Amino acid sequence: MEEWRLKCLGSAGFQIKTDSGKTMNLSETNKQEIQRRHYFGLCPVCLKIGEHNACAGCILVFYCSKDCQKADWKNHKVICKTLTKIRAKNIHIFHKNPMLQSQVANALSVSLSRDLSQYESDILTHPRLCMVCLTGNQASLKNCTGCNCVAYCSQECRNEDKDLHNSVCSDLNNLINDHRIDLQTKSKVDNFIPPGSDSYHPFSLVANMDNLVKEYINILLPDDETSFKENQMRKLSWQLTCPATVLYNIEKANIIRLDEKEKLEIHIVGARKAEVELARSWLLFPARLPKLKKLILVMVGPELEDVAGTNTFFAQEYGCDIEFRLIKKPYHMYERTKKFTEPDIVAALNCGFIFYKEWNESLNSLVRKSGAPLVFTEYYKEDCSQNLEKLKDHCKTDLEVKINSQPNPFQSRTAARLPAGFTLRQYGRKNILFSNDFVCVVKRK
Ligand SMILES: [Zn+2]
Ligand SMILES: [Zn+2]
Ligand SMILES: [Zn+2]
Ligand SMILES: [Zn+2]
Repeated sequence: MEEWRLKCLGSAGFQIKTDSGKTMNLSETNKQEIQRRHYFGLCPVCLKIGEHNACAGCILVFYCSKDCQKADWKNHKVICKTLTKIRAKNIHIFHKNPMLQSQVANALSVSLSRDLSQYESDILTHPRLCMVCLTGNQASLKNCTGCNCVAYCSQECRNEDKDLHNSVCSDLNNLINDHRIDLQTKSKVDNFIPPGSDSYHPFSLVANMDNLVKEYINILLPDDETSFKENQMRKLSWQLTCPATVLYNIEKANIIRLDEKEKLEIHIVGARKAEVELARSWLLFPARLPKLKKLILVMVGPELEDVAGTNTFFAQEYGCDIEFRLIKKPYHMYERTKKFTEPDIVAALNCGFIFYKEWNESLNSLVRKSGAPLVFTEYYKEDCSQNLEKLKDHCKTDLEVKINSQPNPFQSRTAARLPAGFTLRQYGRKNILFSNDFVCVVKRK
């Protein structure tokens, strides 16, 4: 256990071998810095969380004090001048109209002659308006004291948003606090790989994501203080949600005896760069399945890019050979190539079948004639059900639904804010998303 702990906390990172035999590090330690985000409840200078005062020019950036504002002026003036000009004599640039966000983003980008940073676009997509009536009159606004991430102009507006906001307030509070911690303290889970096990324990015994990350973080950081520890648990949940979702739901669907498998091939369809960066998280499979000797992970998606000039790389851990293949094609095109190999499991995570017509031609290929199960996940329950309907429409035979649009116990525990938060409220939808929130498992009949 101690050896594992030192390996996770060390700086070596996740070592992979390319097909030319070169060894390299595929870890987040390679990334230089935490990407800065904007929250109107987080002073960008001293990182104090609370109700802050707006910059009187643009009314889009907020400081806890005049000193912090002064300290930031050198950075802020670059965008403030343009934004103040666009606001002109209006009470607020987005008063009653957050839909102007993309137009203003374009104008700002043109005036800077470059793309906006994440922090700069946050300033435009998360302005301090009344969540309900969208007034930008700052004198009337008060932050929600639970999260400091939304504001209201009156008790009426607060009441109207009560139910929806109550469902996200503590997650928003975690989000803003996690960002502060990320900026102040170096994460210790950037090189995390799960500890191996000599015997098989059904994953269903873990029951949910909170238990999983608690188990790992308690061994990794036994003496740490609570808020950092919880931050690390949430961060780890983000890393592990995809493999944990597949492992748990395949076990639950009871189609394959995972514990008996010596060789397993998983196709991760619709994969993007972020999934490749988290390739090591799939070591969860060999870590928890001691009989597994060979794991093949095929990541399939037109947006993928090579890693260090190669589309195949290898790792070895827990006595298991792990092979990663990157296929830069839609799934149905890959299926027609000679390289195609039959999977044991197909996964389409946070898939959005109903939103992207690019899926249409691939849907029938996702449900294999071999009877291999397909796991797919989605952010909202209604969308998950509609994905299933669309899948049924596009498949040429009947499907057996093993898990039907259910909440996924292994969804991530850290959320992302949506740029369209104000609009989503009008549809009764939450303005934050986790990852793998709802899940379906199907197979061909
Ligand atoms: Zn401050
Ligand atoms: Zn300003
Ligand atoms: Zn209001
Ligand atoms: Zn709140």
